[in-house]
Amino acid sequence: MSEQDYRPIVFTDIDDTICQNERLVAASAREGLVSISRTMLHATCMTVKQQNLLRWLVQTTELIPVTARSIVDFSDIDIDFGGSRRIVANGAVILGPDGRHDEEWAALMAAEMAAYQDRFEAVLAATSSIGRERGHVLKAYVTSEFGMSISALFRTEDGSTDVLVDLRSGLCDLLPGWHVHLNGNTLAFTPPPVSKRRAVEHLLTKTDGAHMRPVIGMGDSLSDLPFMSGCDFISIPRGSQISSAFAN
Ligand SMILES: [Mg+2]
Repeated sequence: MSEQDYRPIVFTDIDDTICQNERLVAASAREGLVSISRTMLHATCMTVKQQNLLRWLVQTTELIPVTARSIVDFSDIDIDFGGSRRIVANGAVILGPDGRHDEEWAALMAAEMAAYQDRFEAVLAATSSIGRERGHVLKAYVTSEFGMSISALFRTEDGSTDVLVDLRSGLCDLLPGWHVHLNGNTLAFTPPPVSKRRAVEHLLTKTDGAHMRPVIGMGDSLSDLPFMSGCDFISIPRGSQISSAFAN
């Protein structure tokens, strides 16, 4: 193997790790802020520290983004990851450097997710009744790629999270084994086969010399922790959901 092939492998979350919403950037970190939204709908940006972190990672590691973003949302951000492979849609989809689907992974996901596809309708129906009972309007939608439903997401119109906590308890009985994630004003339910950690493990089996190379996991959210803890080292941004959980 050449020296190049011994580079560390870094699996990194995107939002709130190497970029963030412009309105959440502290006044002390605004100098040199760069917008990376192609459509400007979401005003995603990078601080100077995040820009320098990304540049260093691209130059010295094999950098692989791991994100809940859909393929379309991923293409909205203007970040050069160094032409790497990427894991999107919470691990349901793996794309090669040329943007092509990892066929082996796609076939596995299609087979394992088939049994869960008709559950999404029941989830949405149960949600509106729980929202009505609590007097809240819940926004609910299902993410999908290539016609496969992947996650059910919920938000409240008024930004209150209490009803989302109630909804989480109500749906846990209906959806045993599903991944549940509440962060801020978003509640997500995802069937068991979809997993960032499984996708990371799959990519490592297809990576030359992976057993010799340090593997680092970076992320801000508790939902990132399973894939991060499967790596040799982890890296967590200050002020993130994970660091707050550790600090408390
Ligand atoms: Mg994140």
